[in-house]
Amino acid sequence: MNTEFCAQLSEHLKTSKKIVIFPHRNPDGDALGSTLGWKHFLEALGHQCWVISPNEYPKFLKWLPGEEEIILYSQQETLAQKCIAECDLIFTLDFNTLSRIAPIDDFLENKDIPMIMIDHHESPADYPILTFSDPQIGSTCEMVYEVMVQLDPSKINARIGTCIYTGIMTDTGSFRFPSTSERTHQIASELIALGVNHTEIHQNIYDSYRTERLQLLGKTLNNLVQVNPLKAVYTSLSQAELNACNFQKGDTEGFVNYGLSIEGIRLAVIMIENQQEQIIKMSFRSKGDFDVNQFAREHFNGGGHKNAAGGMSSLSLEDTIDRLHAILLTYKEALA
Ligand code: 5GP
Ligand code: MN
Repeated sequence: MNTEFCAQLSEHLKTSKKIVIFPHRNPDGDALGSTLGWKHFLEALGHQCWVISPNEYPKFLKWLPGEEEIILYSQQETLAQKCIAECDLIFTLDFNTLSRIAPIDDFLENKDIPMIMIDHHESPADYPILTFSDPQIGSTCEMVYEVMVQLDPSKINARIGTCIYTGIMTDTGSFRFPSTSERTHQIASELIALGVNHTEIHQNIYDSYRTERLQLLGKTLNNLVQVNPLKAVYTSLSQAELNACNFQKGDTEGFVNYGLSIEGIRLAVIMIENQQEQIIKMSFRSKGDFDVNQFAREHFNGGGHKNAAGGMSSLSLEDTIDRLHAILLTYKEALA
């Protein structure tokens, strides 16, 4: 599977390199788990590495081993640009089009730094000199772990394992999505054998909420609309509702999934107003054959995976809701 990729990767890593690793904008557990785990591994191989995130990430990820060394492009642009200008190699993990690291994509233009992609989203772009892309795998962390095993398993320790386990756990919905395989569980077992504390990771991620976050979830559930007669629901949060609950980055993570817990529902959508960026950020989740990657690409300038995708709208929240509702009604057969 990735043998050819690993053989070529080994060639690139033969001599000591200065390496920059990018997660996507608004990084999640898989993006930060994979970039940090990969950084620790590459450092163990003798390379010098920086993880540069396009922007800030949620508090529930601010315990990952080494996260305090992450450079935020949005806050430390000069330092980030210096590291990028100095590096000989770039890894892009957990995304596959450079627009997902905007505005860094503009800075990279004409720089000619070789890039290597490891990612599990559909339709990879062709910017890298070397690509390991597999949409069947549940997380980028799982892919990165497989690469580590082939390159040098002796360098994988509990610190790296903690990063990897986090991304596998968050991207598989705690090992419940269909992309969770026998191999995923095997890897989890290998990581626990290395000393990874799975209970602590789960608590750090999922039991670290503020009361206001649960109140915001209450509003989300109250705003839920079922699109009769379709097996689809949507909900929304206005900026005013977010403000009333003292919204902090990451608070709405996972809210979209609640719609799918209603019996029979096959599509759930959440629309979240972002007044600062003047967009409505959308998340799509499905069960079974309804392809939200395609849906998000076609209607909301987005993408992702078959059962989990994101997108955006530049209309007002009300108009976005109306537009979504009208579009859904054209999917009567697919969502019957
Ligand atoms: P979420 O809804 O949790 O933000 O994202 C679900 C999945 O879709 C993730 O794999 C994420 O990387 C991807 N995704 C989210 N937003 C976008 C987007 O605007 N464009 C693309 N191409 N993918 C997205
Ligand atoms: Mn991922």
